[in-house]
Amino acid sequence: MADLADHEQKLAGYLKRFRQDGVMNHIAGENCPAVFGESFNNASPVDEEHICSVAKSSKDDVDAAAIAAKEAFPAWRDMDGAARKKVLHAIADGIVARAEEIALCECWDTGQAFRFMSKAALRGAENFRFFADKAPAARDGQSLPSATLMNLTTRVPIGPIGVITPWNTPFMLSTWKIAPALAAGCTVVHKPAELSPITAKILLEIAEEAGLPKGVWNLVNGFGEDAGRALTEHPDIKAIAFVGESKTGSMIMKQGADTLKRVHFELGGKNPVVVFADADLDRALDAAIFMIYSLNGERCTSSSRLLIEDSIADEFISRLAERVNKIKVGNPLDPKTELGPLISDGHFDKVSSYFDVAKSEGAQITAGGERHGEKGFFVKPTLFAEAKNDMRIAQEEIFGPVLTTIRFKDEEEALKLANDVQYGLTGYVWTNDLTRAMRFTEKLEAGMIWVNSENVRHLPTPFGGVKASGIGRDGGDWSFEFYMEQKHIGLATGYHKIPQLGV
Ligand code: NAD
Repeated sequence: MADLADHEQKLAGYLKRFRQDGVMNHIAGENCPAVFGESFNNASPVDEEHICSVAKSSKDDVDAAAIAAKEAFPAWRDMDGAARKKVLHAIADGIVARAEEIALCECWDTGQAFRFMSKAALRGAENFRFFADKAPAARDGQSLPSATLMNLTTRVPIGPIGVITPWNTPFMLSTWKIAPALAAGCTVVHKPAELSPITAKILLEIAEEAGLPKGVWNLVNGFGEDAGRALTEHPDIKAIAFVGESKTGSMIMKQGADTLKRVHFELGGKNPVVVFADADLDRALDAAIFMIYSLNGERCTSSSRLLIEDSIADEFISRLAERVNKIKVGNPLDPKTELGPLISDGHFDKVSSYFDVAKSEGAQITAGGERHGEKGFFVKPTLFAEAKNDMRIAQEEIFGPVLTTIRFKDEEEALKLANDVQYGLTGYVWTNDLTRAMRFTEKLEAGMIWVNSENVRHLPTPFGGVKASGIGRDGGDWSFEFYMEQKHIGLATGYHKIPQLGV
């Protein structure tokens, strides 16, 4: 089995070309620097050292990419769905073939542990396969005959799409947005997060090697306030698929207003895991730990608030603390590592600031609550106990390996606490009382809920949040509702009476 030294050696090989050439844009099938030749530095959160330079795009780069996507649209739209299916499967094959390269680069660029990134790379391939298989039927509609008309519905791709992605699991999230867009027949301009640009470039290379026509998928790197903004304001971009913070989503909505942009938002979360005394507590403990401390806690669906029934709280929290203290923090390239560094110095400062907030609010820090090591943006996995739901540590998305625990007396209080946040992405409920589970999930304000389970994605099911956690759903056919327009065609089946004016 590969170890840290193997991974370091392989990574050095994979990064060599990025160190030399930087991460360029890719427009109409060509690698290109930013129009004004500007670039920025991309450093690794593991050792804080420079990895490569990255094209810093402006409105002019976005213009060029949007024009390329517009010009490529008619041919891609009109291509037979079966042909698109073939290309998308070839992309999935390409991802599988380069999965280790993707996983190692992602580890170094984001700080995410290899054990999770190796799976995330393959999930990216599954996303392509899933939507590849749906491509041939994407346009299918219904026939809704009336007495005088044969009413037909069809679906047509909406046009060039802007895809804006965040830095947490950036590879997997990019595939999750781009695969359905391509399957629907849309063309794409992708702006990846400035903090993690490398695997977006690898993904696009794979796509073009797999036979994707030039211009169907374009890449502009850069910052949200210029490249991202220009994309959301561009008149040729018909819709924006965005994953990121809730406040950025609200800015994008404003920016897109003049061009009446269709938007799809996957935003933040402060998701409750609710554990009742009658639950299988061993499994609940495993799941609660996994859902907040995997992926460095930089996970929109993380269970960042533990609501725990009073009668079992002391024992559960003490077992939790014991396990949290044993989580293996270290170099994400090491297959044994469970927790890597946070993405950036800025994010390290944000997450660490909550250690002081917790103290000043009167919560207990039962595990962690400090930096780990000297170099890199590591924090220890952290557990806040005895919190109250109105504290900032219970209300704000910390987006790190930090769990806030709150006690409840009964089901009614648990539900009140669970819903008393601005977010509503996921919820996790642990009870062996099925009636209670059904009652509770019915009232829980979240787009996705799991009972007696951690988050297990099934691609045909809808993914998305309510309240400040998002607008719209992905997955299954729901993705096509966003990337396609419904069209109605009414065909007269006889000579019905047409109202006559001026006769
Ligand atoms: P972010 O909102 O800061 O940035 C996301 C992307 O938006 C980046 O590419 C950024 O450059 C771009 N951007 C920033 N300002 C912009 C603007 N004005 N116009 C256009 N684009 C702009 O988010 P982040 O810090 O990169 O990611 C973390 C956030 O993402 C967390 O809140 C997390 O919960 C959320 N997230 C949600 C989901 C989900 O499925 N709901 C999944 C992953 C991450």
